[in-house]
Amino acid sequence: MSSKTVYTFVPSRTHEYPDHPEKPGRLDILEPLLTSFDAEKIETRQATFEQVTRVHQPELVRAIEEVCKEGPGIIDHAPTYITQTSYQDALLAAGGVITCTRVVINADAKNAFAIVRPPGHHAEPDRAMGFCIFNNIAIAAREALESGLQRVMVFDYDAHHGNGTQAAFLNEERVGFISAHQWGIYPGTGWIEDAPHAKKRIVNVPLQAHAGDETYARVTDEIFKPMVESFRPQMLFISAGFDAHWNDPITSLGLSTRGYYNMSKKLVEIAEEYCEGRIVFVLEGGYDPHNVANGVGAVFEALTNSQLSKDANDPSPYADVDHESRIHEILKWHGIPQ
Ligand SMILES: [Zn+2]
Repeated sequence: MSSKTVYTFVPSRTHEYPDHPEKPGRLDILEPLLTSFDAEKIETRQATFEQVTRVHQPELVRAIEEVCKEGPGIIDHAPTYITQTSYQDALLAAGGVITCTRVVINADAKNAFAIVRPPGHHAEPDRAMGFCIFNNIAIAAREALESGLQRVMVFDYDAHHGNGTQAAFLNEERVGFISAHQWGIYPGTGWIEDAPHAKKRIVNVPLQAHAGDETYARVTDEIFKPMVESFRPQMLFISAGFDAHWNDPITSLGLSTRGYYNMSKKLVEIAEEYCEGRIVFVLEGGYDPHNVANGVGAVFEALTNSQLSKDANDPSPYADVDHESRIHEILKWHGIPQ
């Protein structure tokens, strides 16, 4: 079994729209640093129609292909845009996550990071939304099930609720899902009681503005770890959004680079304890290029069992918010022992 960490890189340089925050420039600071991590880049290819339609309605996939031919334009109010290359870009982004998934399942790598855009976690089975065209992580989780795994789990720490991933697996007993996100912002879903039929399997953790490193550590230890102990996934997928950093321009949470590192390290350790180390991180949001570069670096150091060597030393200037009662409320509602 290989002990290496691999990554795919899909920057989609022609998927961009004037004045839109989800732009290729998000990766400008990161890109020259990629060779400095102890990880091997692997080539990827586009997801197939069959792979994408395990999550999405065929009608949606065909409609995206058609509208892109006429691009550029806005296809959803978030706003979600397309260009003439976006269909191909979105297929390659999904393919980048599938490639990482297959390499890890085949034990040709220990773990992986799919650094791809456009992002995916807002895209629902029948709808592209929230800067997302196809749901990359959901397509990869389906690929893992098709490859023979019986249970997988997705942890979404992007600042926004992973509504698309939740929708994709609402009635899929083989996939667990937890999303920790800022409450009261886009897309408006992700309340504790969103999925009453799926207690302990679909768990939402709505957080107050400025929720910081300590709160995220508690969510990981006190909610996510017991979920894993109960659900017993064989592989973890992480929707890694770096917009939960305290100075992201479009959200108001409170993580620092050190907080991202500590949380990611815990997730890698949980994968090692319960999932034979199988874990794939997938880039979602993050709209300050420095935060993306620092956050991706922190994840690579967690994946390779390294110390945080490039600490940006960027603690949040805001006091963390005590989420004690919120965490208890969530555990109680799901019947997770406290
Ligand atoms: Zn986000």
